[in-house]
Amino acid sequence: MLKVNDINVYYGNIHALKGVSLDINQGEIVTLIGANGAGKSTLLKTLSGLLKPKTGEIVFEGEHVAGKVPQLIVKRGISQVPEGRRVFANMSVEENLELGAFLRKDKKGIQEDFEKIYQLFPRLLERKKQLSGTLSGGEQQMLAMGRALMARPRLLLLDEPSMGLAPLLVKTIFQIIEEINKTGTTILLVEQNANMALSIADRAYVIETGKIVASGLAEELSASDQIRKAYLGGH
Ligand code: ATP
Repeated sequence: MLKVNDINVYYGNIHALKGVSLDINQGEIVTLIGANGAGKSTLLKTLSGLLKPKTGEIVFEGEHVAGKVPQLIVKRGISQVPEGRRVFANMSVEENLELGAFLRKDKKGIQEDFEKIYQLFPRLLERKKQLSGTLSGGEQQMLAMGRALMARPRLLLLDEPSMGLAPLLVKTIFQIIEEINKTGTTILLVEQNANMALSIADRAYVIETGKIVASGLAEELSASDQIRKAYLGGH
């Protein structure tokens, strides 16, 4: 579905992604794990068109999309839930969700998706008129996910959905990610919470200082001593 081939991304002269390659197959949950500053967000931003690789290719469903504008990438079927949620604080829950569908014209489909999202996140239905800035952190994460889903993506990019959430809520968010995947959305999940991410993922990539240093089945990586020591708290 998605093929990233040897991309190099720079911020000025900082070389943030160094020859990164990865593949995502339709229907998978793939996780990208790595320490602070390893380049995880940079990779997601490149996939969603916010950053342009200097060299290398990104092919989504057969189309070259590297360096294309975010709007086109959303239209093609890739949506990102940014790190730190970034909901529009002065708009209601409902208005934030509407914005997620701004590139779509299929009114009926949009209505169906509203219903699906309220089913997935009943909390958002209860609060649909509430200003988003007054939602709790977990609710804002749900809203950011719902907003991305309103674009009806085939590939959903999630940047640190567990950040700053209480453990119970982290569990809920991960269950919802699995549910979203079961309804046919392919997922690329960026996480510092490697234990949780590996527990729901099919495959994983490990990134260190801008380079992919390991990849494989999530189960295999969870069992690897090296990965356990470096990313899973060593036990
Ligand atoms: P975190 O988990 O802390 O969010 P990350 O793996 O997502 O980390 P990135 O945010 O992708 O890491 O950053 C990768 C590298 O690029 C870091 O060294 C960071 O300092 C640098 N970087 C990120 N954004 C910029 C920017 N706008 N200008 C310059 N350097 C940047």
